[in-house]
Amino acid sequence: MSAQMVPAAKPLIGDEEREAVDRVLRSGMIAQGPEVAAFEQEFADQLVGGRSCVAVSSGTAGLHLGLLAAGIGPGDEVIVPSFTFAATANSVALTGATPVFADIDPVTFCLEPSAVEAAITERTAAVMPVHLYGHPADMTSLAEVAQRHGIQLFEDAAQAHGATWQGRPVGAFGTFAMFSLYPTKNMTSGEGGMVACATPEMVRSVQLLRNQGMERRYENEVVGLNQRMTDVHAAIGRVQLGKLHAWTEQRRANAAFLSAGLDGVVVPTVVAGAEHVWHQYTVRVPSDRDGFAAALAQEHGVGSGVYYPIPNHALPSFGLTLGLPETERACAEVLSLPVHPALSERELHRVVEGVNALAKAGA
Ligand SMILES: *Cc1c(COP(=O)(O)O)cnc(C)c1O
Repeated sequence: MSAQMVPAAKPLIGDEEREAVDRVLRSGMIAQGPEVAAFEQEFADQLVGGRSCVAVSSGTAGLHLGLLAAGIGPGDEVIVPSFTFAATANSVALTGATPVFADIDPVTFCLEPSAVEAAITERTAAVMPVHLYGHPADMTSLAEVAQRHGIQLFEDAAQAHGATWQGRPVGAFGTFAMFSLYPTKNMTSGEGGMVACATPEMVRSVQLLRNQGMERRYENEVVGLNQRMTDVHAAIGRVQLGKLHAWTEQRRANAAFLSAGLDGVVVPTVVAGAEHVWHQYTVRVPSDRDGFAAALAQEHGVGSGVYYPIPNHALPSFGLTLGLPETERACAEVLSLPVHPALSERELHRVVEGVNALAKAGA
C-alpha cells in the first residue's frame, strides 16, 4: 500500500533546478551574490507588485528580521493567531516582545478582525495575520483596525505566494511581509525566505540585519546576524518562481475537483474578494478526525496532514490557558488533503473516493 500512497505534499525539483545549481557551483561564487539580487527583483515584480524584497535564509529569519526592522522589541505586544505554525509567535517572542493570541474566523481560518480589536492594549504595537493555507486574511478590516488604533500591520505570507485580496497581492499590505521558501511551500529554494518591504528604510534595515549590520565591510552600523541566502538557493528559487503560476493554476483545478466531488466533510470556502492559492486544501471532520486520517491512509492509501493539532498558546513553549473556541475547534477538526500540482487524475479520484467512503461509513 505505501508504495502507491498518495502523498500529502511533494516538492517538485526538475532538471532546470539542477542545472541552475550546477551553473552557480561552477561559477565558484556560491554565497550571496548576483543570483540573490536577481531573485529578489524577480520575486518583487512577479508577486508583490514591485515592493522591494530582501532574501534571507529562512521564512522564520524573515519574520524575525522584519519585526526587528519595524522596531518591535521588549515591552511591545504583537497580536497573532494561535492557529498557525509556531514560527509566527516564536519570531515575535525572540524580539523580546509578547505575542498576544487572538481567535480566528471559522470560515477562512485566519485572524478574526473583531477578535484582534478586542485584544488591543496600550502596549499593542502591531498585528500580524497569517494567510493560512494560502487563503488571504481579511486585509481590509485588519488594515482598518490597525489604522484606527495606530498600530502596524505585518503579514505572515509563508503559505500564500500569489494570493490576492480584492485584487491586491498579499505581501503588499503590511509594513513588511514574509514568504517562506521551505520545500513543502508552494515554491522552494531549499530553505529560504523573502521579505517584502513597504519603505526604503525597511529594506535597508532588513539588509543590514541579515548581514551583521554591515553595508560596507567591517563598518558594522547596527547589531545584526548572518541570515543571508546563498546564490545556490536563489538559483533554485528563480527556476521555481518561473513555474509558480502554472503550479498555482493546477492547485486551483485540483481544489475545484475535490470540492465538486467530496461529500460528507465540510469543504473549504473561498470568501468574496479572495484569490486562494491552495497551499493546503483543508476540510473539517467534526468527529474523530485522527481516526478518519488513519483510515484514509490505511484503507485508501491517501496521505493527509493536520495543520495544526495544538493551539500555539497551549504549546509547552508558551504554556498559556486561553479561551479561543474557534482555534480549539479547528485544531480538533481540520484535515488537509493532497492538492499539490503533482497529483494525477487517478490520485485525485482516489482522494475523493476514499474520503467519501469513510464519511459515509461514519455517518
Ligand atoms: C513555514 C511557515 C513559517 C516559517 O517558514 P520557514 O521557512 O520554515 O522558516 C512561518 N509561518 C508559517 C505560517 C509557515 O507556514
